[in-house]
Amino acid sequence: MFLSSGALRRPNAFLSSSAVNRIWKVSGDQQSIEREPASTPAVVAPGAFPNATGSDDEVERQDEDAEDELDTEAASRRASALARVRKFGDPVLRTRALSVERFDEVLRSEVARMGELMSDAVGVGLAATQVGAVHRLLVYRVQRQASVAALVNPVIEWAGKEEEIGEEGCLSLPAVLVDVERPIYVRVRACNEHGEPLMIEASGLEARVIQHEIDHLDGVLILDRTTREQRKQAMRALREAQEAA
Ligand SMILES: [Zn+2]
Repeated sequence: MFLSSGALRRPNAFLSSSAVNRIWKVSGDQQSIEREPASTPAVVAPGAFPNATGSDDEVERQDEDAEDELDTEAASRRASALARVRKFGDPVLRTRALSVERFDEVLRSEVARMGELMSDAVGVGLAATQVGAVHRLLVYRVQRQASVAALVNPVIEWAGKEEEIGEEGCLSLPAVLVDVERPIYVRVRACNEHGEPLMIEASGLEARVIQHEIDHLDGVLILDRTTREQRKQAMRALREAQEAA
C-alpha cells in the first residue's frame, strides 16, 4: 500500500497505518496495491453472526468464534486465489495484451471470474494478463462497498502534471514493495463488459490502481517504474521468495 504516500493520509484513504501494521504482524505478507487491508474479513457471510438472544458474554464469545472461522476461511480462499495469479518470471506478464473485440457472454463470465479472484485474493485490482489472458481487460475495486468495475480496452486519455510517490506491491510480485511515482489525476476511456463507453476521472488511489493495471496490459511491472536501487532490492527479495517456495 501507500505507506509513504499522501493518499494514505487523506481522510477517506482506505488503509490506516494501524491496518498496515496489523497486516505485517498477522500474516507477514507484503501489502500490495492490489491487496486490500486485512483488518476485517474479506467477506462477511450473511448470518455469520448470531442474533443477540443469549447473554452479552455469550454473544461476544460467539462473535469471536465466527470471526475466527471467517479469518481462516478467508485466508485459505486468499491462498488459493493467489496461487492462480501468474508470478514474476512468467512471460505472459511481459506480453502486451491485445484489444478486446467481442463483448459477449464469454467476456462477461471472465469479468465475473476475475472479480471473484480479486476479491478472494483480497485485492483492489487485477489485470487479465495476470491470469494468463492476453487481452485488454482489468477489474478493480478500491472501496469495499463498491461493486467491481471492469475496464475493457482502457486508454489513459489525459494525465495531470502533478505526480506523487506511493509504495506499491503487486499480486504477481510476492514480497516486493517499491516506490512508484505516478500522476495523481487521470482521465481514462474504456468500455464496460457490455461494450458501453465509459469515461473515468480518477484521483489518488483509484488513479494509481488503474495506472498499475493498465501497465500490466502493456507488459510493464512496478520494477520498471522504480529506482535502480529499489529494483535491485526487489530482485533480491523475489529470488529469496522463490528459493523459499
Ligand atoms: Zn500488479
